[in-house]
Amino acid sequence: MKTQALPKIVKIGAYQIPVEVVPNLIADHAATGMYIPREKKILIEETSCFGQRESTLVHEILEAISEIYEVECFKEDHHSLTVVAEAFYQVLKENKGLIA
Ligand SMILES: [Zn+2]
Repeated sequence: MKTQALPKIVKIGAYQIPVEVVPNLIADHAATGMYIPREKKILIEETSCFGQRESTLVHEILEAISEIYEVECFKEDHHSLTVVAEAFYQVLKENKGLIA
């Protein structure tokens, strides 16, 4: 069986963004994940199940893309970012090998 682990680093633009699984994001920030622009870092809540961690990672990757490439529509419309991220996660999850 394949080990379920998130990547430690995601490359976005010129950056290598660390992905850290941490406690208390829900308790302290009411969030299952966070992208920190100043540190170019993604945090994922450790108590989330693996599917939720993956889904949150895709969301935070889109947050990072939005910040790094200055995607204005997502800065102004977080709901649209959330919908695109969730849909994209489903497509990636259910079409293994879609990208070589
Ligand atoms: Zn968000």
